Amino acid sequence: MTDSTTSARPTAPHPADRPVYVVGGGPGGLSVAYALRARGIRAVVLERSDRVGASWRRHYDRLRLHTTRRLSALPGLPMPRRFGRWVSRDDVVRYLEKYAEHHRLEIVTGVEVSRVERTADGTGWLLHATGGRELTGAAVVVATGYNHTPRVPDWPGLDTYTGEFLHACAYRNARPFAGRDVLVVGVGNTGAEIAVDLVEGGASRVRLAVRTPPHIVRRSTAGWPAQYSGVLMRRLPVGLVDRLSRVQAKVALPDLSDRGLPRPGPGLYSRVLEGAIPVQDVGLVDAVRTGAVEVVGAVERFEDGEVVLAGGDRIAPEAVVAATGYVRALEGLVGHLGVLDHRGRPVVHGARTPDGAPGLHFTGFTNPISGTLRELALDARRIAGAVARDGAPGVSRLPR
Ligand SMILES: Cc1cc2nc3c(=O)[nH]c(=O)nc-3n(C[C@H](O)[C@H](O)[C@H](O)COP(=O)(O)OP(=O)(O)OC[C@H]3O[C@@H](n4cnc5c(N)ncnc54)[C@H](O)[C@@H]3O)c2cc1C
Repeated sequence: MTDSTTSARPTAPHPADRPVYVVGGGPGGLSVAYALRARGIRAVVLERSDRVGASWRRHYDRLRLHTTRRLSALPGLPMPRRFGRWVSRDDVVRYLEKYAEHHRLEIVTGVEVSRVERTADGTGWLLHATGGRELTGAAVVVATGYNHTPRVPDWPGLDTYTGEFLHACAYRNARPFAGRDVLVVGVGNTGAEIAVDLVEGGASRVRLAVRTPPHIVRRSTAGWPAQYSGVLMRRLPVGLVDRLSRVQAKVALPDLSDRGLPRPGPGLYSRVLEGAIPVQDVGLVDAVRTGAVEVVGAVERFEDGEVVLAGGDRIAPEAVVAATGYVRALEGLVGHLGVLDHRGRPVVHGARTPDGAPGLHFTGFTNPISGTLRELALDARRIAGAVARDGAPGVSRLPR
């Protein structure tokens, strides 16, 4: 009964010739735009900054990909061999510029999308953007980045701290910190690498505040990159990976318990499923072993110009670098559509679209152990395939 009523109802005509809007001109957005284009679908990338790859342009100077060149390339364009196995930040930026140019992607810069909603007639998506723009697309791909907005914990007393305080997103290199006593807070990949950078750059003292000891893996062992293991792990049972990685850590890495970094209790893959990616060692293990980086307890609060640590110790660094991560900040953009989970992440990604939101795709909001760039490349093809399979009626096709 319901079915026949539905099928008898005339469907609203779909206005033809609407592009797919891709929000964000980072690796995720660019690869989706290419994959759509490769299927003859017009995609327009909307990027809020003045150039593609804005996130990569802001990263600290010594950063290199910890995923291999080959497994970090986006669809349709390999990274040149001369970039080496571990590609530098500047070469990632070069590659993204080249990628956009090579595939002749349609990119509009200086346009920030503030809200995405269904068109009143339900045939497409309306995007509200900078300068009062209203853009109507047949489908939308949100690629605004996992590391969107720096997150600083709500530490009591932070506003009274008189030393220098910065989020890791503002850290470029160790030069301004030479000869100074610095506390790095957080031991993700970024915090670990900044601590090492500070030691090598001549900071007088480097301490690293750790709340939860991380899993640490060598970037590569006997030429075998940790990323390859990450790709394989995704096919194995969690318990097995946890056990194997425990054995491997004992063989490959010294015990740093007496230096404040005990081996973590929960297994590596169990932690990955909770969102904690292992730290790839680019010098932290040696720096902690030799005492060049001192591990201290988690930061609890700031008081009288000092930092109070878990357990009550008080220290007085001259500068604090908070490597405390980022938030997705998707609430304003799509929160009203009921497509985010309790952590503010999209309920689906890649080819799948949320219930009641046909044609709305997300890419780049997971943190896979196999490498985000690899995942973005895979998702790009999946999204383009889904849109091409009539996921977006009325979509504008490119001339053949
Ligand atoms: C320090 C660091 C190192 C990393 N190293 C690796 C690695 O080695 N290997 C790996 O696989 N992954 C790595 N990643 C993870 C991931 O690959 C990168 O973060 C990658 O840049 C993600 O691409 P993206 O396109 O999803 O997001 P981003 O690169 O952040 O791009 C998002 C784009 O969207 C734009 N934007 C945001 N909001 C709006 C809006 N409302 N309207 C319009 N435009 C908007 C931004 O300006 C930006 O250009 C690393 C991440 C970090 C932070």
